[in-house]
Amino acid sequence: MGSASAWELARRGFSVLVLERSVPGAEASSAAAGILGAQIEAHARGPLADLSRVCRRLYPAWVGALERATSIDTGYRECGVLKVAFGARDLTKLAREVAWQKPRPRVLAARALAKREPELNPRLRGGVAFDGDARVDPRRLFRALHIAAARAGVVFRSGAYVRRVVTENGRAAGVALDDGSIVRGRHVLVAAGSWTSLVEGLGIAPGAVQPVRGQIVELETAEPVLRSVVFGPRAYLVPRDDGRTLIGSTMEFVGYRREVTAAAVRDLLTAAIELVPALGNASLGETWSNFRPYTEDELPLLGPTHLPGLWLASGHYRNGILLAPITAAIVAALVRGKRSPVPLAPFAPARRAT
Ligand SMILES: Cc1cc2nc3c(=O)[nH]c(=O)nc-3n(C[C@H](O)[C@H](O)[C@H](O)COP(=O)(O)OP(=O)(O)OC[C@H]3O[C@@H](n4cnc5c(N)ncnc54)[C@H](O)[C@@H]3O)c2cc1C
Repeated sequence: MGSASAWELARRGFSVLVLERSVPGAEASSAAAGILGAQIEAHARGPLADLSRVCRRLYPAWVGALERATSIDTGYRECGVLKVAFGARDLTKLAREVAWQKPRPRVLAARALAKREPELNPRLRGGVAFDGDARVDPRRLFRALHIAAARAGVVFRSGAYVRRVVTENGRAAGVALDDGSIVRGRHVLVAAGSWTSLVEGLGIAPGAVQPVRGQIVELETAEPVLRSVVFGPRAYLVPRDDGRTLIGSTMEFVGYRREVTAAAVRDLLTAAIELVPALGNASLGETWSNFRPYTEDELPLLGPTHLPGLWLASGHYRNGILLAPITAAIVAALVRGKRSPVPLAPFAPARRAT
């Protein structure tokens, strides 16, 4: 969120400094699976579903601009997302659950599913297809974003741990770092992901943003086993063009503990091999975990705060990769004194004020 906003602002002539306690992209934004699931992730009508849909429309142009600026292939693929079921009753339930969505996801019977993704388990009874959903490779995306932002003039400072927001005359004037130094700025955007609530002076309740750990296991095969992203009952699979398949993911409230656990790896592997039996012969790649910035109502904290000049872009929970371009566009509009391109009331940080 920080880097995407920085790039957007720099392109509009602002001079932007990104303060990062680690290295840019060290956390959730490089650990994500990269599903751009505007529809698969929408479980009901509402502001998040609307925001996600707007973002899906922005994505092709946004990654296009990044790819042109850097010559990096971000792995953006309009591959569609499938949600599959092993039982006939589960398939009926699935079809009923998504019937409200527009465009309405297509229901695929077993044969159509097998034709589209031949490596899927032949025991599957069918699935629903979200043809407008897509995928991207978050590490490549982040690398492109970092380079594009730096070329546009953004300065990244690693190892800068932000402690609190500094106020002057009733507005944000900068931030204080943990080495005691003050960094001044006319606008301050806090985009500290799962650690946002630890930054002092934001006017939000402690625990307004909490970490939800997600673990991922990567498998490698000579050829990709899937083209589409596939959601099964117990795991999702995200293919990369080079033959890697990501298996995700757990949802765990365990604070900031970074372990990859034996039980999670076992469960993810079992679920993946059940979905695609050929993955039983795959070689094991990397495993990792990171933290989704969760809010109680599962909506981001996005927009102005109690303090003029202080903006928040956090709490994107399961969909921060998808929501990056719209978040950046919103931040850039607000900092320039313009209206947000989408209504912000549902995302107002004030709803989690201290
Ligand atoms: C396992 C997993 C799978 C996911 N899959 C998907 C997916 O498929 N699709 C999708 O759209 N989203 C996905 N997400 C969610 C997505 O990754 C997040 O919503 C998004 O990356 C959040 O971005 P962010 O910039 O808010 O946080 P982060 O990327 O975590 O960035 C926050 C940065 O702030 C820095 N920081 C924190 N505190 C301070 C401080 N005090 N001072 C200085 N710097 C600080 C951190 O070091 C970090 O680099 C997934 C997340 C996880 C964990």
